[in-house]
Amino acid sequence: MSTVRVEPRSTAEFIELEERHGAHNYHPLDVVITKARGVWVWDVEGNKYLDFLAAYSAVNQGHCHPRIVAALKEQAERVTLTSRAFRNDQLGPLCAQITRLAGFSRFLPMNSGAEAVETALKAARKWGYKVKGVPDGQAEIIAFDGNFHGRTISIVSFSTDEQYRDGFGPFTPGFQVLPYGDADAVSRAIGPNTVAVLVEPIQGESGIIAPPAGFLRRLRELADANRALLVVDEIQSGLGRTGTLFAYEHEGVRPDVVIVGKALGGGCVPISGILADDEVMDVFKPGDHGSTFGGNPLACAAARTALQVLVEEGMIENSARLGEYFIERLRAIGSPHVREIRGKGLWIGVQLKADAGGARRYCEALKEQGLLCKETHVDTIRFAPPLVITREEIDWAVERIAKVLS
Ligand SMILES: *Cc1c(COP(=O)(O)O)cnc(C)c1O
Repeated sequence: MSTVRVEPRSTAEFIELEERHGAHNYHPLDVVITKARGVWVWDVEGNKYLDFLAAYSAVNQGHCHPRIVAALKEQAERVTLTSRAFRNDQLGPLCAQITRLAGFSRFLPMNSGAEAVETALKAARKWGYKVKGVPDGQAEIIAFDGNFHGRTISIVSFSTDEQYRDGFGPFTPGFQVLPYGDADAVSRAIGPNTVAVLVEPIQGESGIIAPPAGFLRRLRELADANRALLVVDEIQSGLGRTGTLFAYEHEGVRPDVVIVGKALGGGCVPISGILADDEVMDVFKPGDHGSTFGGNPLACAAARTALQVLVEEGMIENSARLGEYFIERLRAIGSPHVREIRGKGLWIGVQLKADAGGARRYCEALKEQGLLCKETHVDTIRFAPPLVITREEIDWAVERIAKVLS
């Protein structure tokens, strides 16, 4: 057998290996990261960058947070996987911690965001049949234009992005897709067979799009009036990103199911899940649903510490305070190429004018200035740094953003 050893050195060599031997389902910036700490990352050539994407908000607590890494190391040396066939001493404490923090009675852990969304859809359907009394096979779930909930076949079944669906049919039935922000459309569509309304409080992948004020409150009222569940996807918007623990808090509503992921793993391990009260969560009986790695002690230990540092180190308040400061400074740049700057907390979309030549060029130029960010759709640059960023680091970034945008 030939050796499996490969020892690339330069950026070009790493990229060549990935391009030749990997699948081409992403189009990353050509920077090969080898080390990271807080808001900073280093590439294999020794260049230093400010991370303005934070792994799509999975690194809210900053890269390699020392307390999270310590918890991981400690746990890695004790026990990492038991499966749910046995119990472990990290799952119960995590469930207690996250439910107390969020104000729900139960938590069900999964691994990826898409899996947690699937779990919420299954919970809603089962609740519809067993509790609401929807006739078998008739459950309907309402979702919205421009949504992003993940990449499984059922989830892309109700995506309105053609690329996400092209070539992946046949699709899962039982979803109605309505205009985002249009509560009147929901009021016309919702009915006796509706089991859930699935919504992102702010659409991230769509370009940091907030619905009109009052939209979530109207959805809450319509869900109550028609006995349907309000299910919010907080995978990207949650855990401090918008300056509150969850983005739905800005509207003062309480959903029935909250989907979490991304930053729950503190940027170290995949862990996701759903939060709900007994009426919904109790529809799951032993054997109904599961995951081999779901609730593993390594991920639970990381998540426990990830939640602790988020709260104890004031990251949520920092997101609110510095988010406001950052958006003001961005607006003050007054770039001729910018159509709109919008956002909440440290989650800001800069939408460029149609004739600006697309956001990708700007992300490439920002990279040359030492700032890593990623376009979303063709015309929006997303700024979403780790929530541990300081005012000085934002000033440093704004100087460079101003250079590139003017
Ligand atoms: C990232 C994301 C998902 C999917 O999470 P994965 O871990 O990539 O499966 C679902 N919903 C929202 C809002 C997201 O941002």
